[in-house]
Amino acid sequence: MITTQDAEFPEVGFSPKVKEFISSSKQMLVDGKWVDAASGKTFPVYNPASGEEIVQVAEGDKEDIERAVSAARNSFDKGLWRRLTPSERGKIIWKIGDLIAEHAEEFAELESIDNGKPKAVASVADLPLAIDLFHYMAGWATKIEGNTIPISMPGSYHAYTMREPVGVVGQIIPWNFPLLMAAWKLGPVLTTGNSVILKPAEQTPLSALRLGELLAEAGVPDGVVNIVPGYGEAGAALAAHDGVDKVAFTGSTEVGKLIVQAAAGNLKKVTLELGGKSPNVLYKDVPDLSVAIEGAANAIFFNHGQCCCAGSRLYVEDDVFDDVLNGVAEHAKKIKVGPGLADDTEMGPLVSDEQLDRVCGYMASGVEQGAQQVAGGNRLGSSGYFVQPTVYTNTNQDMKIVKEEIFGPVVVVEPFKEGDPLIQHANDSNYGLAAAVWTSDISKAHRTAAELRAGTVWINCYNVFDAALPFGGYKESGWGREMGHEVLNNYTETKAVVVAL
Ligand code: NAD
Repeated sequence: MITTQDAEFPEVGFSPKVKEFISSSKQMLVDGKWVDAASGKTFPVYNPASGEEIVQVAEGDKEDIERAVSAARNSFDKGLWRRLTPSERGKIIWKIGDLIAEHAEEFAELESIDNGKPKAVASVADLPLAIDLFHYMAGWATKIEGNTIPISMPGSYHAYTMREPVGVVGQIIPWNFPLLMAAWKLGPVLTTGNSVILKPAEQTPLSALRLGELLAEAGVPDGVVNIVPGYGEAGAALAAHDGVDKVAFTGSTEVGKLIVQAAAGNLKKVTLELGGKSPNVLYKDVPDLSVAIEGAANAIFFNHGQCCCAGSRLYVEDDVFDDVLNGVAEHAKKIKVGPGLADDTEMGPLVSDEQLDRVCGYMASGVEQGAQQVAGGNRLGSSGYFVQPTVYTNTNQDMKIVKEEIFGPVVVVEPFKEGDPLIQHANDSNYGLAAAVWTSDISKAHRTAAELRAGTVWINCYNVFDAALPFGGYKESGWGREMGHEVLNNYTETKAVVVAL
């Protein structure tokens, strides 16, 4: 049974720039124009810190997707973007990064009021990563090359490959890093010369819409990027549309499977970045125990645990187990929870009432199934969607809180000893997005990294991201990789050309 602990949170007003942005209903971007939904419908966007409505946003549905796909197709067929020189495309993509940097303060505030995360955190994490992503991808525009291939057929041939844009791309993103997820998607799709329809999450469409306002200023031609906010129905229409050549999705594994089915109609290409339940393995010989404890706490509590790669299963070698459990619990108790716009807030509210119910449901199930609560475990305050950072132990592999992705600030801490099937436990998950290992034994570190079935393994660190590093999942955590040069493969087709000489 989850209780609600009393809590008073300060009210912090919005800046004039953000007030101006939300002073009227937001429209969608189709063919370079801001338009209402074809149905005229709008949907409310809420401030998670208060539960109050911020603004109404145009609610895209099938018909709006139809219009956006047709605008994207038109821009692609006319070559408005793909036929620019690679250097011209690169400069425009770089400029998008610059424009975000110019408006970084406003973007950080929008992320905070839309998603709940502390503005200060958005300023040092989401914003620099999004800006850097566009700058990194800008450089690739001039480096997308094919090969010349010596072939063995009798006769004389010149054979080479070209890499061409895949065409019209649908991109569907979640709410946990709204601007950053838009950057991860738009950066590479533009670098490779495609036209796109982006559907932001219904909970957090604001920063994508603000970004849409900057695209024309950067020099992106009309119809190349279309932004259609809306619920899952809009995403489903995009994933099923025969005029879409590829769909790139980030979100839950459950919806990822629906995307695959929807895409089957025209066998459009699919890439998926899905959920995780990442193991974080802490050996007794860590280089510095206090650094490892802080690292393990940040691995789960960063972004309120609403990270696909959150270190939600912490396995600790028995000699240091008590120290780590107590250390992480102390860290959890000290985290200052509050509205994202308050200067001293370290953890904001969860994104929505639905997410609040989901996380509280998992907390209740943990206690019901016999887990021991060492920190947190309650909702905070009765307005806004705040929960306490929470730590459980005495868990086992069959409990829901150990098996399922909670997507909240909830960690399970389990001991292991030498000889235990640790790797088997760590890999005992349908997911395989990320993992970490903490040790000063370099051989053990690399051996463990090699054995963990995950797309990213951090050694003596956690949540280290870079535009140059590929990110994505094994098993049900996804198909394909975001970022790095690997992501460019998601958005190009390879054409082999053979010339008889
Ligand atoms: P979600 O799957 O419910 O929604 C994600 C997006 O899909 C939203 O835009 C939503 O409107 C849309 N959508 C919903 N139903 C759809 C349908 N039937 N067809 C097409 N689109 C549809 O996920 P969420 O709860 O918003 O996000 C949290 C999930 O995202 C977590 O599972 C998390 O692990 C995952 N995630 C993964 C990564 C990664 O890189 N692997 C990054 C961030 C989040």
